[in-house]
Amino acid sequence: MRLLTFTTTTAADPRLGVETDGHVLDLTALADHARVRLPHDLLGLVQAGPAGLDAARRLLDGAYPAHAVHRTEDVRLSAPFRPGKIIGVGLNYVEHVEESSRSLDTDKELPPRPVLFSKPATAVTGPGAPILHNADLTTQLDWECELAVVIGRTAFRVSEEEAYDHIFGFSIVNDISARDQRRSGQWFFSKGQDSYAPFGPVVVTADAIPDPMDLDLSLRVNGVTKQKSNTRHMLFPIARLIADISSGVTLEPGDVIATGSPSGVGAGMVPPEFLAPGDTVEAAVELIGTLTNPVVDAR
Ligand code: MG
Repeated sequence: MRLLTFTTTTAADPRLGVETDGHVLDLTALADHARVRLPHDLLGLVQAGPAGLDAARRLLDGAYPAHAVHRTEDVRLSAPFRPGKIIGVGLNYVEHVEESSRSLDTDKELPPRPVLFSKPATAVTGPGAPILHNADLTTQLDWECELAVVIGRTAFRVSEEEAYDHIFGFSIVNDISARDQRRSGQWFFSKGQDSYAPFGPVVVTADAIPDPMDLDLSLRVNGVTKQKSNTRHMLFPIARLIADISSGVTLEPGDVIATGSPSGVGAGMVPPEFLAPGDTVEAAVELIGTLTNPVVDAR
């Protein structure tokens, strides 16, 4: 299932929906029509576990009342939900480790364990929403297209073998970074500012992604391809990331892991390239979609 959060011209409050061929179905309207109890938002559905997903699936088998069906072009997508926490993984693609050591201040050696950081929930923004460019804070605003893992079941000290049982689904995070705001090696202010975590456009449930470790991912700026890789090139695969993080940090339903960026970031270009107001960034992951955001002047 391709789950999303949307508004329409007649419904300004965000609605829980599912994308089908050319249409968005309003799951809350379907549930009300069928007199079925269902969480009214995507985070609630994630937290409801397999029973919630089963209920949503059954609704799709029924008849659709007209008011629950929208054409894709008539809806506006929001971020799927506000995660409890977003854990980022730095330096998780070999060629990105190389370009970062050349252009930034990171090690040349491959990290022996995942390099973890966090982005606050306030950094999240939705498809089509602006990435804020504040020239008072940065002249080095950069992009990173990443596969996002949405946690569906609490994970504490889980093994790699158990890790996938804790995944709800997958999405895209563009890990926006102000390269000149790394402070004493700390990435929080560089990667944690408002709008620095575009998220979406949809969450695809895990059953619909046969192998998340074999997905093409790419990123374009103003239509020009900057990043192009495949998740099989991750240094630490998804199962290892979940096992490693959960060895000390509880992962909860609705948490998101941004699994790292391939090479092709702006800082690694010769000469370096960075985002400016007026740019459009498109981050794409196979089987999920394209997350498009404009960059706007936010001084
Ligand atoms: Mg990143």
